[in-house]
Amino acid sequence: NWDLILYVNLELVNKTSNRRFIVKEMLGQGTFGQVVKCWDTETNKYVAVKVIKNQPAFYQQAIMEVSLLRTLNQKFDPDDKHNIVRMLDYLSFQNHLCIAFEMLGQNLYELLKRNHLRGLKVQFVQAFSKQILDAMIVMRDGGIIHCDLKPENILLAPTAKTAAAVKVIDFGSACLEGKTVYSYIQSRYYRSPEVLLGYPYTTAIDMWSFGCIVAELFIGLPLFPGASEYDVLKRMLKILGGQPPDDLLREAKNTAKFFKHVGSSYLGIGAHDGPGTAYRMLSEDEVEGRETKRPKLGKWYFPQQRLDQLIYTYPWDNTKLPEKADRVLLVDFLRGLLEFDPNKRWSPFQASGHPFITGEPFTGPYEPVSETPRIPVAHAAAVDHNPGGGHWL
Ligand code: ATP
Ligand code: MG
Ligand code: MG
Repeated sequence: NWDLILYVNLELVNKTSNRRFIVKEMLGQGTFGQVVKCWDTETNKYVAVKVIKNQPAFYQQAIMEVSLLRTLNQKFDPDDKHNIVRMLDYLSFQNHLCIAFEMLGQNLYELLKRNHLRGLKVQFVQAFSKQILDAMIVMRDGGIIHCDLKPENILLAPTAKTAAAVKVIDFGSACLEGKTVYSYIQSRYYRSPEVLLGYPYTTAIDMWSFGCIVAELFIGLPLFPGASEYDVLKRMLKILGGQPPDDLLREAKNTAKFFKHVGSSYLGIGAHDGPGTAYRMLSEDEVEGRETKRPKLGKWYFPQQRLDQLIYTYPWDNTKLPEKADRVLLVDFLRGLLEFDPNKRWSPFQASGHPFITGEPFTGPYEPVSETPRIPVAHAAAVDHNPGGGHWL
């Protein structure tokens, strides 16, 4: 019943009126709860309120979301310049943590669907990439890993008529670098090799997801739409060529689920990158409990070809013909994002210097400047256990 009025606990928010948010319509549904469009009677504005499920585990995780977003908004982006959603307030309502956000528009998956899963024009891919990177630079400065970057979590934001803008939302799975708790993170299509393989992870996992998003915005379909983790990894090897480096495979917890150790002379899929690797990916027959189901996406089964070929030959129905120069630039940009080795993968700052983002002329493969080591950032309070009186804005 979406006509109901959310009654805000009087003692917690200390307001003269006991009703503040009037629910208008449903905006979205996720793992953590529902997002509803509300009329805020205090500010006379529409807001998006995320109503978290009233179970303790969800409540606790949502407190983390509030805490990290508060740090990001207030400390790292006080002037709202870096394309991160603004949190307006939060309160507890019948054991539901409710977080009020500024009202934004459609998410990028909805936008692609509206476009019949055809990709966006290169100018939009470029503009959105630049804005998402801007948010990612801020997140990295704060040592915050988003852990769930995907088109559904990037929303169109209101802006001046001629431009298009996006903001990053949903810090509900985010964590602090060096304080990682969960190993089962990121949405499957956007899951990084190190997370799949069970290797310690950093903000670099967001860069992988970002690479997947950029490719998807151009081709309109997810790059690695695997029906299982094995399927996702297999698609990565096929589409990107190469494979994760041996030292990562040696140390990762789940390597045996996907790879077989065959000795250092194996000249497999990664052979063209240098000397033989010590691991080869298991065949489908060798995988336990294998899934053979293939996800069908729109009218296409995703063509599994090398990334450069894919970008050069898209669209497959010749409806849109981006300049060859733009495609070359995009392929070179994706190369640094979809890098198997998290230590070699470009940082958001490095990626933001790429000619695809800066608009500078492309003179050959981009070589980012090496970065000065980051100064660890102190977080005021990692977790705020008293979210009741959320009046800090
Ligand atoms: P997930 O399953 O991705 O973890 P979630 O439960 O954490 O989802 P959100 O991603 O925060 O929830 O929100 C779910 C959806 O609600 C979004 O994909 C978006 O479509 C919509 N939504 C969220 N925040 C806003 C907002 N500020 N303005 C408009 N729509 C929003
Ligand atoms: Mg979400
Ligand atoms: Mg979420």
